[in-house]
Amino acid sequence: MTRPDEQTSRELRKSVRGVLEKELVPRIEETETKGEYCLEAHRALGQLGLLAPMLPEEYGGLGDTWAQLFVAEEMGYYSSSFGLSALASAILFGNNIANSGSEEQKKKYLPSIIDGSKIGCWGLTEPGIGSDAVGVKTTSVYKGDHYLLNGSKTFITNAPIADYMIVITRQVDESGKSLAEGIEGGTAFVLERGMDGLSTGKPFKKMGHRASPTGEIFMENVKVPKENVLGKPGRAFFDMKHSLDVERVIFSGLGIGMSRFCLESASKYALSRKQFGKPIAAFQMIQDHIANMTTQYDVAEKYLHYVTEQMVAGIDVNKTGAIAKYFIGKAVNTITDLAIQCHGGYGYMEEYQVERYDRDAKLFEIGAGTNEIQKLIIAKQTLKEFS
Ligand SMILES: Cc1cc2nc3c(=O)[nH]c(=O)nc-3n(C[C@H](O)[C@H](O)[C@H](O)COP(=O)(O)OP(=O)(O)OC[C@H]3O[C@@H](n4cnc5c(N)ncnc54)[C@H](O)[C@@H]3O)c2cc1C
Repeated sequence: MTRPDEQTSRELRKSVRGVLEKELVPRIEETETKGEYCLEAHRALGQLGLLAPMLPEEYGGLGDTWAQLFVAEEMGYYSSSFGLSALASAILFGNNIANSGSEEQKKKYLPSIIDGSKIGCWGLTEPGIGSDAVGVKTTSVYKGDHYLLNGSKTFITNAPIADYMIVITRQVDESGKSLAEGIEGGTAFVLERGMDGLSTGKPFKKMGHRASPTGEIFMENVKVPKENVLGKPGRAFFDMKHSLDVERVIFSGLGIGMSRFCLESASKYALSRKQFGKPIAAFQMIQDHIANMTTQYDVAEKYLHYVTEQMVAGIDVNKTGAIAKYFIGKAVNTITDLAIQCHGGYGYMEEYQVERYDRDAKLFEIGAGTNEIQKLIIAKQTLKEFS
C-alpha cells in the first residue's frame, strides 16, 4: 500500500470532515458537558467505511493505514475526545482482533466494529499496574473447555459503553501460581458484555477527553470459552508490543489534528484582534508564538508521516514510533498552551475552544506509555545500535 496521492487524500479528508461537521460538531458541547460519547458520529462514519479503514477488506475495511491516519487527524481537529473513543474501538479492539484473532473471531467481531454498530475496548491497565505492563494481576485459569477470569482493569477507554472487550491476563494454575514469568505467560481474551461475572464501572470524571468514557472492568469468575482466547495462550505480551507501536503512530494523528486547529485558531485570532491600534499579529512576541507553533506542528506532522510510511512498508517502528509519540506529546502541549496565550483572556473561556484542546493535550504525555516510558524505549534502542 503506497501513500495516497494529494487528491485522494484531500477527498478522503473532505468526506470525514463532512460527516464530523454534520454529526459531531453540533453535539460537541453537549457530549463534553455530559461526558457522553457521540454515537451518532460513530455510526455515521461506520456506515461510510470511515471509522476503521485500516482493518482488512474481507471484513468491510479498506486495509488502508494511511486512510486511518488521516481519519485520526481529522477527528483530532474537531474533538480528540471523540477520536480517542473511535480509535479505541477501531484500533485497540479491532486491529488487535485483525492481527491476532482466529478466522472465526475476525468474522464475528470485525464487521460490526467496522460499520460502527458495536463498540470495542482494550484493557491492560489495572489499579496496581500501568507502566509495568507485564505485571498484570488479573488471572486466567484453564478449565478444559473454558477459562475462569478474575481481576479488574482501570482507565479503560470505552469500558462503560463497550459491547466487546479485550483483556490481558496472567495465566495461573489452580493454586494461583503463574505458569510463566515476565513477558511470558500473558494471555488475552475477548469478552462480551452480558457474560456472567463481568461488569463495568461508571465513567470517570477527568481533566480532558471528557466525551470519551473511561472506566473500569470487573471480572469475578467470568467463564470464558476457550474459543475466546485472542492469539496464542502465553503470547499476549509479545503481541501487545506490536499493537502498542501501531497505537502510538495512529493515535498521534489526533495530536496533529488538534495542533492544526490551534494553529489556525491562534493565527486567525491574531490577525483580527486589535490592541494598541494594530492587529496583535503585528507584535513580534505574538509572531514568536506563531513561529514556535508552526515549527512544532510542521516537524511533528512530517515525522509522523515518515513513521507511517515505515510502518506501512513493514519496517519496525518501535523506536521511531516512540520518538513520534514523545515529540508529538510535547509539541501538542506547547501548541495548545500557546494558542490560549495568543487568545489572551478569550482563550481561557470555553467559547474559543482552545481551552478544551489544552485540557485534552495532557493525555498525549500519558496514554499508550508515558513520556518517560517512550524515552526508555528510545534510549534502549539507540544504545543497542551503538553497543
Ligand atoms: C484517559 C485515559 C485513557 C486510557 N485508556 C486506556 C485504555 O484504553 N486501555 C488501557 O489499558 N489503559 C488505558 N489508559 C492507561 C494508561 O495507559 C496509563 O495511565 C499509562 O500507561 C500510565 O500508567 P499509570 O497511570 O499506572 O502510571 P504509572 O505507571 O504508575 O506511572 C506514574 C509515573 O511514574 C513514571 N514511571 C513509571 N515507571 C517508570 C520507569 N521505569 N522509569 C521512569 N519513570 C517511570 C511514569 O512515567 C509516570 O510519570 C488510559 C489512561 C487515561 C488517563
